[in-house]
Formats: sequence, structure tokens, C-alpha cells
Amino acid sequence: MDISALAEQVEGPVLRPDDEGYADEVAAFNAARRHTPDVVVAARSADDVAAAVHWAAAHDLPIGVQATGHGAVVPIAGGVLVSTRGLDEITIDPERRTARIGAGVKWRALLDAAAGHGLGGLCGSTSDVGVVGYTLGGGLPVLGRRFGFSSDHVRSFDVVTGDGERHHVETGDGSELDWALRGGKGNVGIVTSMELDLIDVQDIYGGGIFWPGALAPTLLTVFAEWVETLPEEFSASIGLLRLPPLPDIPEPLRGRFTVHLRVAYLGDDAEGERLLAPMRDVAPPLIDMVGRMPYSELDRIHMDPEHPMPFEEGGVLLRELGPQTIETILAQAGPDTESPLLLVEVRLLGGALARGGSDAVGGRDAAYSLFAVGVLMPPIAEAVPPAIQQIVAAMAPWSAGTMVNFHGVPGDDADRARAWPVPTYERLQRAKASYDPANLLRFGHAVSVLDPA
Ligand SMILES: Cc1cc2nc3c(=O)[nH]c(=O)nc-3n(C[C@H](O)[C@H](O)[C@H](O)COP(=O)(O)OP(=O)(O)OC[C@H]3O[C@@H](n4cnc5c(N)ncnc54)[C@H](O)[C@@H]3O)c2cc1C
Repeated sequence: MDISALAEQVEGPVLRPDDEGYADEVAAFNAARRHTPDVVVAARSADDVAAAVHWAAAHDLPIGVQATGHGAVVPIAGGVLVSTRGLDEITIDPERRTARIGAGVKWRALLDAAAGHGLGGLCGSTSDVGVVGYTLGGGLPVLGRRFGFSSDHVRSFDVVTGDGERHHVETGDGSELDWALRGGKGNVGIVTSMELDLIDVQDIYGGGIFWPGALAPTLLTVFAEWVETLPEEFSASIGLLRLPPLPDIPEPLRGRFTVHLRVAYLGDDAEGERLLAPMRDVAPPLIDMVGRMPYSELDRIHMDPEHPMPFEEGGVLLRELGPQTIETILAQAGPDTESPLLLVEVRLLGGALARGGSDAVGGRDAAYSLFAVGVLMPPIAEAVPPAIQQIVAAMAPWSAGTMVNFHGVPGDDADRARAWPVPTYERLQRAKASYDPANLLRFGHAVSVLDPA
């Protein structure tokens, strides 16, 4: 394959499998996915991205996109990988309270830049994910109940669509692209930059509390009643956590099954304490780290893994968390099981997440998100994928589909369609047919191609 014409047009490195730098550029945070594209374009500009798309189209090659590899749900085998890591510019406009960012910017960099102006952004459970990839899937923020999805706060996108055209899309311009980019993931194009609103927040009342796993039945039951009383300013999730016996994990959690409550409250400490009291009163914790904290340190709330590792994940949206739902979760991953899953998390939705304009975000009408993740390492590696499938299947009576950012490995057409409500999925298929008619963007959470008839 002759890449010389492409390399001449592109400012960033264009790499083949034997080239130095290829392995680094294809490496994903999810180390279970080994990408092996024929060519990697390490883009440095929107022009580079456009050149890569034109070249791939001319050679009839599929295109994958990667910023961090947190969402590497399938291996990119063959074709062209557009790596956006080098699109790392950030411009903050403190007057308008907005940020313009390149497609390779991680939340960590944006939170740090925004904090310098007393501002924050609608980051999810970890600041290590890419702002654009997360937001294209809606983007469920820690403060989502108060502010809605990250994509509700996008002002504009610059995108190279699958047909090689470049567009500047203003939110609310009524275009199909605007609709599809807010929640439709990478189906219609490669976003090169984005402008989004920042929020006026410097600190919050938040953090995590750990209890022994034996208390899981009581804690889940109290949690389900307690969340009904919370205002939108209070976000909460609860995790059944089985951390491995690794030396860098603190002793009370190392190698133990625990329950981890994660909270974030946009209000004063006294009211935060009052609202949290029913959970604190359940039992003495192993660790209680809830208190006033800088918003930019919100990684402390969920304490997600910081280093690349091989994992598999799966999710399902729930309409309710009643006694039978809890019983079913416990039967899959409770204290009486030998579950191989690192985490089974139930996150409270609702509030501003349930509202929103016309967009492709799924999950607005769900009450909870259940997310399961396991590490693909011996001795449990082989037990993880079936355990994820089992817990997702067991939730069927309460399922409201999935949210694309938490869907996990996309399966057959029917499984892919679960990531959006039916009318949204069908409209997304039509949008893809217009903007990516050759279906070049077909890795990952790609909707299935419309039958030409
Ligand atoms: C530990 C962990 C915690 C998480 N917490 C949350 C959370 O709280 N809330 C939430 O909503 N999600 C969460 N996620 C899911 C995360 O938002 C998705 O995995 C998201 O896809 C990550 O984006 P990325 O760019 O970092 O990943 P990548 O793997 O680089 O990209 C994933 C996919 O996003 C698309 N994409 C990325 N960049 C572009 C682009 N420029 N143009 C077009 N398509 C693009 C592509 O389809 C790509 O395959 C979490 C994931 C992990 C691993």
C-alpha cells in the first residue's frame, strides 16, 4: 500500500505497522483491544483529518477514530485509524463561559484550564476520557441531574463527515448533523473541534463512602428509597466493588468485596450532610471521604482506574430499582456470589437528564443506569464476558435499553439498536446514509446500514 501521497498532504505522522511510533499511536486505554489498522494518521489539524478521510475513501478502506481508547469496544483491524490525540488545543473564553477544544483533549486538561477561571465542565466519573468521544455519546456527567448531558451544552462542532465534506455545525441550526452529533456517537463523521459551555463551579460537597460488602442488601435497599428524596443538585451512585489484592490499593479495600457510594452535591456542606445522613446512618463505614472538595478533583468521587488495563464492560438502563431488581442484582453480584466483576454500578439518572431538546441522546426516560465491568486478567478473564452478559440479561424485566457510552461491546444489529430509542436509531441510520454513504465509519457503535430498498 503506497501511503506517500497521503503522507505528503498530512502534517502529522502517517504510520504503517512496522514504523516507529505506530504501537504508541494505536495503544488504547482498554488494553484488551489491540488495534491493527493498515495506516494510522496522527492528525495535527482538521486538514489532516479531511485528507485521511479522502484517502480512505479513494482506497475503499474503513476508518476508525481514537482519542484515548477508553471506548475501544472493538479492535480496529485493517483500514485507517485517525488518531486525534494531537488535536489538543484548548481556548477558554471566561466572559462567555465557553471552551473551544480540539478532538484530542481529555477532561483532565479542560478541567485544569477551566479551574484557572473559576469554572468547570460537565465531566463524567473520570477526567481521563476524551471530551469529544464522551460528548458524542451524550456524555453522562457527575452533575448530570442538575445540568443534563454534556451534549446539551455543546455550542458548535467542526466535523469532517464520512463523505469527506467539512462542516461547521451550530447547535440549534436545525440541521440533521446537529441532531446526529449530539448523542449519535461517531456515526456521521469525525469531529475535529467543539465549543461547549462551562459551568460556574469551583467546589462541591462530594466524595465516596465504602462499607463491607456483606451490607450490600441493606445498602441497596436504603439507597433505592433514599434517592427518591434527593434534589436535582444531588447526584448519587452505588457500586458493588471487588478490588484485586494489589499493593497500591488501600488496605481496607484491597482484595475485598465492598460497597462504594459516590455522591456529588452542588450546595452547602450543612445541607449536604443532612441529605446524606440516611445513607451514613446505615452502618459505620470502612472509609468515609465525603466533604468539601475542589470540583476539578472530581476523580476522587468514583475513583475509576487511572492506568490502562484490559477490561470488558456492559450496561443497561433501568426503569426502576424495586425490591425484585435489587434481589436480581444481588443474585448476580451480591455477597453470596463469586462474581468475577470488578464493579457493578447503579447510577441515579433523572432531573435535567430527563429533559432536553431534539437530539440523538438515548436514556433520557430511564431512572437508573446499571454498568458492569470486569478485568480480563487471569484467573478471572474468561469468566468476565459471560458474567456481564448474564447481569445485563437478568435486568431484562426492568430494561429501558442502553446508553451508547455504557453499552459495551456492540453485538448484532438488534444489540446495536438497543443503544438508542427505536425512532432515534432509525433516524440515525438515515443520517448515516446521507453523511457516510459508503459506511466508512463502521467500527464501534456504528448503526447498521439501511437496506437500499
Ligand atoms: C473508566 C471509564 C469511566 C467512564 N465514565 C463515563 C461517564 O461517567 N459518563 C459517560 O458518559 N461515559 C463514561 N465512560 C464512557 C466514555 O465516555 C466512552 O468510552 C467514550 O467513548 C470515551 O471517549 P474517548 O474519546 O476517550 O475514547 P476513544 O476510545 O478514543 O473513542 C471512543 C469512540 O468515540 C468515538 N469518537 C472519539 N473521538 C471522536 C471524534 N473526534 N469524532 C468522531 N467520533 C469520535 C469513536 O466512535 C470512538 O471509537 C467511561 C469510560 C471508562 C473507561
